[in-house]
Amino acid sequence: MNYRTFGNTGIRLSALGFGAMRLPEDDDEAIRVMHRAFDLGVNYIDTAPGYGESEVRVGKAVASHPNRDGIHISTKNPLQDDTAKGWRERLERSLERLGVPKIHFYQSVHGLNWKAYEENFSVSGAVQEALKAKEEGLIGHICFSFHDSAPNLMRLADTGIFEGCTVQYNLLDRSLEDAISYVQEQGMGVVVMGPVGGGRLVAPSENVRQVMGAEEPNTPRIAMRFVLAHPGVTTAISGMSTLEMVEENVQTASDASVLSPEEWRSVLESAGKLKNMSDLYCTGCGYCMPCPHDVNIPENFRMMNMHRVWGQTDSARWRYGRFEPAGRIKGKPASECVACGECEPKCPQHIPIIEQLKATHEALGE
Ligand code: SF4
Ligand code: SF4
Repeated sequence: MNYRTFGNTGIRLSALGFGAMRLPEDDDEAIRVMHRAFDLGVNYIDTAPGYGESEVRVGKAVASHPNRDGIHISTKNPLQDDTAKGWRERLERSLERLGVPKIHFYQSVHGLNWKAYEENFSVSGAVQEALKAKEEGLIGHICFSFHDSAPNLMRLADTGIFEGCTVQYNLLDRSLEDAISYVQEQGMGVVVMGPVGGGRLVAPSENVRQVMGAEEPNTPRIAMRFVLAHPGVTTAISGMSTLEMVEENVQTASDASVLSPEEWRSVLESAGKLKNMSDLYCTGCGYCMPCPHDVNIPENFRMMNMHRVWGQTDSARWRYGRFEPAGRIKGKPASECVACGECEPKCPQHIPIIEQLKATHEALGE
């Protein structure tokens, strides 16, 4: 296992982190899977109150492992109200569920964005509560998990409050690439969630394989190596539910050290070419939204790019069938466009949106 230093904290975390969001249903099996990861050197485990019984099971697994003192727990505070008291109560509940006196890396807001920071976290007294909890030794490091744009990630780093963040970054979504370097320069540690694109990079893809060179045929491994090759990334967390997944991921995270600076540059160059191809179609900026008929234009084009640029056709088709209410993707599929034309003048890429939505449905609607 490789270890990297988490920002300015001096703490060495394993390059692979354990994501405890989809543990096996059976308690004993869940603990076996977590213990196997700890045995193989994983020393960072990420959970959340919203992951069912995960906090309780993580607490049990850590407490019953011989390396319990060397394992770093991360959990999150969902911003359910705008009171400091509520924030503190949620922290105390997590400590109780985990059965620990201290949470090492506390994502003091789950899914933070700039608006929530400005209108809630920074003015509700929660920041002071977080600093107080750190002083009391209830939390080790004040971090956040993040769902927003690159400029807003940098703005959050500039506040100087946070020591680390958990962000989305993978071969299919590189929008935070430069911002990750920026926050690293500010002394923050960076944990990446979704290194295999929320499962979208699990399917084999010839295009993705070419990005990393012909010698590597395994797409998820390529995806993990890509994330770990970013010099700003401390740890990539992978949701693991079987012993096989643990062993394969550990092997990948251990191999990642062999990616030389030349290889990393060549990966960036190849990935850049693919990214440029997808930019031709849609950058995901969202300026065309909202659609009066609730078509989720950027998401439809993202799926189209998965098919057309990345060759991930099966995954793209599967996702296309997952708009609400059948799945959890917000808005409507391309087939619901009535060609009113309201969106097209707003697109800075001058994409013929109506025509491209039609093509999207033709390609993915089957
Ligand atoms: S043209 Fe289609 S996608 Fe664009 S605003 Fe109208 S219905 Fe929505
Ligand atoms: S405005 Fe254009 S580039 Fe931006 S999300 Fe909409 S279609 Fe894509």
